Amino acid sequence: MENRLVIVGAGQSGFAVAAKLRALGDQRPITMIGDEGLPPYQRPPLSKTYLTGAVEFGSLLFRPEDWFREKGIDLRLSNPVEEIDRQTKHVVMRKGDKLAFGDLVLTTGASPRRLPSAIGGDLDGVYVVRDKRDCDLLRRVMHPGRRVLIVGGGYIGLEAAAVARSLGLKVLLLELGTRILQRVAASDTSDIVRAVHLANGVELREDTGLRMLISDKGRVVGAELSDGSRVTADFVIVGIGVVPNDQLARASGLAVGNGISVDEYGRTSDPSIFAAGDCAEFSYRGMSVRLESVQNAVDQAETVATSITGGRAPYQPQPWFWSDQFDLKLQIAGYNAGYDRTLVRNGQRPGAKSVWYFQQEQFIAVDAINDPKAFVSGKRMLALGINPPEEILENEALDLVEYTRSATASSAA
Ligand SMILES: Cc1cc2nc3c(=O)[nH]c(=O)nc-3n(C[C@H](O)[C@H](O)[C@H](O)COP(=O)(O)OP(=O)(O)OC[C@H]3O[C@@H](n4cnc5c(N)ncnc54)[C@H](O)[C@@H]3O)c2cc1C
Repeated sequence: MENRLVIVGAGQSGFAVAAKLRALGDQRPITMIGDEGLPPYQRPPLSKTYLTGAVEFGSLLFRPEDWFREKGIDLRLSNPVEEIDRQTKHVVMRKGDKLAFGDLVLTTGASPRRLPSAIGGDLDGVYVVRDKRDCDLLRRVMHPGRRVLIVGGGYIGLEAAAVARSLGLKVLLLELGTRILQRVAASDTSDIVRAVHLANGVELREDTGLRMLISDKGRVVGAELSDGSRVTADFVIVGIGVVPNDQLARASGLAVGNGISVDEYGRTSDPSIFAAGDCAEFSYRGMSVRLESVQNAVDQAETVATSITGGRAPYQPQPWFWSDQFDLKLQIAGYNAGYDRTLVRNGQRPGAKSVWYFQQEQFIAVDAINDPKAFVSGKRMLALGINPPEEILENEALDLVEYTRSATASSAA
C-alpha cells in the first residue's frame, strides 16, 4: 500500500510539516510540490528587509536544497498540482504527472486580492506583495523621488509604505475604512501607527477609496479617488488582503468555508487529507477562523505531522504576530476578535506602549509597540490563563515580567 506523504505547497507550513515528521523520526517517503520554482522560504522579510535590499534571498531559505535530499524529501518545485483524485488517491500535476499518496497535506497558502480589471487592476505598474517575484519586480521600481500609491492600510500596505519612505519615495496610502488597521486592531493601535507614519512623511488618506486607476498606454499614471480627487503615481502597490488557496480542495469535494475546513488535528473532511497554514479554517473560541501568521503556519503544521504519525495532540493555538514599520516594532499576542474593552499602558522605555484587549473582563490579546516586556508577559499570561487586574496594568512602574513570574509561581503553588 502506498505510504508516500504528498505535501502540496512548498511554503512555511509545508516545510514545517516535513521538518517535524523527520524530527519525529518518521521515515516515510515525502514529496513536496511547489509552484514558485524555489525551495521553501520565509515570507515576512519580503515586505521588510528584503524589499529594502538589506538582506539577500539566500538568507530567507529555511534550508538549502541539499538538506531536503539528505532527509529523503523529494522537492518538485515548478509543477503545481491541478487536481486531487480522492478515489484513487493521486494528485495530478500541471505537466500531466500523477503521484500516488497515502496521506496528503494541503499547505497552499493564500493569494493576494487584486483590484478588478474594470478599474485598472491589470495595468502595468500595479503590484502586490506576496512572493519573491513580486518583490523583485518592486525592487526594480522603488527609486528615490518616485511616487507610489499604496491601496490598503493593513500590515502589508503599511510595511510597504515604511520601506518606500525609507528608500526616499513619496508615498500616498489610501484606506477605505475609517482608519488604518481597522480589521485587525483597536483604534488605540491605529492611532499610534498612524502617528509614526505621518511623522515619517507618509501621506495617509483614511475613509478614502479608489474609484479607478488612470493609465497612459497601458501603464498606470495616477488614480481617481472616491472623494473625486485625482492623484498622480509612478506605480501602485495593492495590499487589500488575501484569499485562501482552497480551489483544489473545493474541486475535490472537501468541506471548505473561508478556507479548507479542518478539525483540531488538522484533518479535512477526508481522513487521509490534512491542511494547515493560511489555507486552513478551523474552530477557535467558538469562531471559525483562518489565521495568516508564521505562528499558525508552523504550529498547525506540526499538529498535522503528529497526527500523521498516529499521535493525537489537538492544535491549541497561541496566536502571535509581528510587524516592523520604520522604528516601530509591533508585537501581538492573542486574538482580539470579539473584544469589548481596551486598556492602554505606557511601557517603561520611552515610546513603549501596549494595548490590552478584554472580552467580558477576560484578557484575550495585547498589541505591544516597542515594548517587548508587554509582549512577552502578555503572551505568557495568555498561555497560562492569567487575567491581569486593571490596577496592575495601570501601574506603569510595575515590571510586567516580574509580575507574570510571581503570578505564575503563586498559581503553581
Ligand atoms: C509579505 C508578507 C509579510 C508577512 N509578514 C509576516 C509577519 O511579519 N509575521 C507573521 O507572523 N506573518 C507574516 N506573514 C504571513 C506568513 O508569511 C504566512 O502566514 C505564512 O507564509 C503562511 O504559510 P503557508 O505555508 O500557509 O503559505 P505560504 O508560505 O504562502 O506557502 C504556500 C505555497 O503553496 C504554493 N501553492 C499554492 N497552490 C499550489 C499548488 N496547487 N501546487 C503547488 N504549490 C502551490 C504557493 O505558491 C506557496 O508557495 C507575511 C506574509 C507576507 C506575504
